[in-house]
Amino acid sequence: MPEYPKPAWDFHGGLHIDDHKSESLATPLREAGIPTSLTLPLQQHIGQAAEPVVQVGDEVLKGQLIARASDYVSANLHAPTSGRVVEIAERPIAHPSGLSAQCIVLESDGQDRWGELPEPIENYREADPADLRERLRWAGIVGLGGAVFPTSVKTNTTGRVIDTLILNAAECEPYITCDDRLMRDHPGDVIDGALILQHIVSAGQVLIGIEQNKPEAIAALQAEIDARGLNEMRLVVVPTKYPSGGEKQLIYLLTGIEVPSRGLPLEVGILCQNVATTAAIADAVLRGRPLISRIVTLTGEGVTQPGNLRVAIGTSIRDLVNEMGGYTAQAQRLIMGGPMMGFALGSDELPVVKGSNCFIAASREEIPDPVSASPCIRCGECVKVCPAQLLPQQLYWFARSRDFDKTQDHHLFDCIECGCCAYVCPAHIPLVQYYRFAKTEIWASERERAKADHARRRHEFHEARLKRLEEERQARLRKKKEVLRKKPASGGDPKKAAIDAAMKRVAAKKAAQRPPEQSQGPEQAPEQEKEA
Ligand code: SF4
Ligand code: SF4
Repeated sequence: MPEYPKPAWDFHGGLHIDDHKSESLATPLREAGIPTSLTLPLQQHIGQAAEPVVQVGDEVLKGQLIARASDYVSANLHAPTSGRVVEIAERPIAHPSGLSAQCIVLESDGQDRWGELPEPIENYREADPADLRERLRWAGIVGLGGAVFPTSVKTNTTGRVIDTLILNAAECEPYITCDDRLMRDHPGDVIDGALILQHIVSAGQVLIGIEQNKPEAIAALQAEIDARGLNEMRLVVVPTKYPSGGEKQLIYLLTGIEVPSRGLPLEVGILCQNVATTAAIADAVLRGRPLISRIVTLTGEGVTQPGNLRVAIGTSIRDLVNEMGGYTAQAQRLIMGGPMMGFALGSDELPVVKGSNCFIAASREEIPDPVSASPCIRCGECVKVCPAQLLPQQLYWFARSRDFDKTQDHHLFDCIECGCCAYVCPAHIPLVQYYRFAKTEIWASERERAKADHARRRHEFHEARLKRLEEERQARLRKKKEVLRKKPASGGDPKKAAIDAAMKRVAAKKAAQRPPEQSQGPEQAPEQEKEA
């Protein structure tokens, strides 16, 4: 591996933890089979749930649209294989709440037949960025690094100048290796997607931020960049430190630029995208294929053959585990995501969704059961490791006492929920759970306030409309009275004058309609006398 200079900047805090990545990287990428049944939640992204465009009993083809984005911030959903829609109903999903959500259940016909797809846009450099964004919207692409924000919305940078596109290849969380595997095996897709994105947002340069614990991926990407002679694209190898893949942390590591509190990278001329998302972009633009599968890491001491698989969205975790030889006797806990930011699942009969990057079937020794918390001893360890430079123990006190204004004063929304503070806390306080609770409460009250404001505005609008209608009615009445009150030119009673005028008009009309013989009256008689 060539020498890469150390980045000039480093973020505050963070942790050096055992990465447990080698276990799932020992085997090559595998294609998982198509299961007999797929469960596709309508909400797999940030924003509004998609709306089904199929009905129970419909036959569908692979890649066919089955649910349409219902709002600007929403995402399309396509059939991952051919088959029949057998149910549209609430089903349990992989979510920390353990709740169910509306899903389309598809029974596979085993033939995996593709439906009609849009034409590839090979010459994307000539294409209008708005058309390319529309293609990403059609393909239902969302951030595959875990954020699941619709990519067509994130890449709409109209009115902003983007200097730098950053590809997030850090994959800093222990156990997760799906991006590493993708970059080793399909570096061309990652680079193609990066170039398409660069064209969409007109970025001057592309930086790929990758941790130094991925030498094979670094070599594969560098070879691809060199082979294409891409001078405006550069790999930046960063030290292995969790959470270097946090968006704000990576931006700072690569550029020294700090994204403002509660601000977006766009505000400092930067767009950041995960490498798996860029590969999906290449698939949608260059091959006309929607997002219907993804690479998933399945690892931990509880699974027989840890590794990475390309999996159809909607496949159940149990099918995945069976693909990898089943559970071992040590399997005790099932985690979705990594051990730092992931959450425990109560069942493996849940579907893989667009945001599922990793499942860990863990032994008790690997990921121990939560220990009961003791009171905070104010040791300050959490402050030392917080990459967002917050005061985690203060946030904890405010969240615990439901003082949500204070949590916001202490920048709660800059917390990236990385879990560093909870990891080092000697009192084993589940700090991140308190921050999530506080955020949820604040969002709920903001929604309530917005609803109340909306209702108040509607009421005020309704009242104003009634008042305006009444004023208009009064004005019409006044005008009518005014006309009636006015004296006619002849003087006297205006009502009588109006009746007289009407009678005169009727008499004149009658006279005009009288037949000619009737009209030979006294006026013609002198002429007749003359002739006689
Ligand atoms: S690490 Fe835990 S015990 Fe120490 S100050 Fe932070 S919250 Fe308190
Ligand atoms: S979870 Fe939040 S408060 Fe804790 S270390 Fe990470 S960013 Fe800081």
